[in-house]
Amino acid sequence: MDKTLICTLCNGEMQLYEGPRYNRKTGGVLIAAGAFATLFWVGAVLGIPLMAAGAYMVGSKRQLWVCKDCNSAIERLVVKSESTSLKKVK
Ligand SMILES: [Zn+2]
Repeated sequence: MDKTLICTLCNGEMQLYEGPRYNRKTGGVLIAAGAFATLFWVGAVLGIPLMAAGAYMVGSKRQLWVCKDCNSAIERLVVKSESTSLKKVK
C-alpha cells in the first residue's frame, strides 16, 4: 500500500514529515516526576496521572505533508494507535 498525497494547489507530490508534537524533555521530566512521586505511597495518586501525561506527551506525534514543488503544508493530527499503522505505509 503506497499512499501519496497530491497537492491541491499545484498537483505536485507531497512528502510526509513526522516529528514529536511536544517537547520530549517536558514529557520525560513528567514521567520522572511521576515515578518519583509513586515511590511514596500517597504519591501514587499524583504520580500515576503525571506519568500518564508524560507518556502521552512523548508518544504523541505530529505529521506534516509538505509539497515538493510549492512547499505548501498540510498538518495531520493522529492518535498514537493510528500512527503505528501509518508507519507501514512509508
Ligand atoms: Zn504544491
